[in-house]
Amino acid sequence: MSDDCIFCQIVAGEIPSHTVYEDDHVFAFLDVNPLAPGHTLVIPRDHHERLNDLPDDTADALYAAIHDLVPAAEAAVDAPASNVGFNNGEESGQEVPHVHGHVVPRFADDGGSP
Ligand code: 5GP
Ligand code: ZN
Repeated sequence: MSDDCIFCQIVAGEIPSHTVYEDDHVFAFLDVNPLAPGHTLVIPRDHHERLNDLPDDTADALYAAIHDLVPAAEAAVDAPASNVGFNNGEESGQEVPHVHGHVVPRFADDGGSP
């Protein structure tokens, strides 16, 4: 855990979140400032800044969780589609330096990609 990382603090329960999934490697919760209803963040429990920093087993677990959470998030808000992606590095727009995948449910005519 990185003491000054808000996502580590969420995993530790020190900052409240709306948890939607958790297992030994992965934690998923609703984004506090959602781009759309059901916007979910999927993160490794352990602190890693970038995708390439992840150990193989953690990367595999993260992908497996996203694989299952995409249809779950869409179904939860009755969305027909979603954007799924990572900002990877500060210059890409990554504001929280703890790997996180965005799952953003999308609807017809909702204004385009985030
Ligand atoms: P980034 O720009 O780093 O890819 O995305 C960071 C995301 O984390 C943003 O969508 C932002 O709304 C979300 N976020 C930042 N702080 C918190 C928090 O304390 N709780 C939750 N649930 N989401 C947060
Ligand atoms: Zn962290």
